Amino acid sequence: MTDKQIQIVFKEYQNIDELTTADKQLCLKAVKSFETSHSPYSHFRVGAALQLESGNILYASNQENVAYPSGLCAERVALFHWSSNHATDPIITMAVTAHTDEFKVVKPVTSCGACLQVMAECEKMQGKPIRVLLYCIDGPVWEVTGVQSFLPFLFFEDRLTH
Ligand SMILES: [Zn+2]
Repeated sequence: MTDKQIQIVFKEYQNIDELTTADKQLCLKAVKSFETSHSPYSHFRVGAALQLESGNILYASNQENVAYPSGLCAERVALFHWSSNHATDPIITMAVTAHTDEFKVVKPVTSCGACLQVMAECEKMQGKPIRVLLYCIDGPVWEVTGVQSFLPFLFFEDRLTH
C-alpha cells in the first residue's frame, strides 16, 4: 500500500485591481452577465463571461425553473452556448461571479461538479485547458487553469468518444 497525494495549484489575487486590465474587464463582464439571471427561487444570481480566442465574449447567467432540476447554472449555459455556436473559437478564459441580496458573498464561488464535467468536455473539444477566474465582488479572485485543477479524478474515457 502506498499513500499518494495530489497537489493542485491556483492563484489568489487580493482584489480585482491586481488583475491585468483584460482579466479585470472580463470579471466585470461576468457581473454584467448576472443581470439576466432568472433566480426567483434561490435569489442567488450567477454570471459567467467567456473570452474566446477571436476576442468575442459570450455572456450567460443562471436560469432557474419552478421544476427545480430543470434550471441550469451560468457556467453550463455559457459552455453549451459556446459548443452550440462557437466551438471552432476556443475558450481562453471563463470569469464567474455571484451576488445575492440575502447575504454578503465573501469568497469566490466555485463551480458545481456537473459544470466541471461539462468544462472537461469543452476542454477536450478544443484541445486546450480553460483558464477560470472566480471573482468575489469586493473580495479576492481565484485563478485556476484547467479542469484537472478542480477535479483531479475527473471521469474521462477516451474510448467512449470514438
Ligand atoms: Zn454548476
